[in-house]
Amino acid sequence: MALSNVKCGVSNCRYWESGQRCNASAIEVHTDNGSGQANQSRETNCKTFETTR
Ligand code: SF4
Repeated sequence: MALSNVKCGVSNCRYWESGQRCNASAIEVHTDNGSGQANQSRETNCKTFETTR
């Protein structure tokens, strides 16, 4: 079952489903630089991502 209130645009993730839905049981998000602090959304990313390829 897709996570409610999670909208994702990464369509090649194995957990992604049509309609920008995420079928992971939970997601983990971190900063790109590992500092634990971000200034903009683009500096964060989903670590639960797994490629379909
Ligand atoms: S695990 Fe992360 S990247 Fe994959 S569909 Fe869910 S939110 Fe998107």
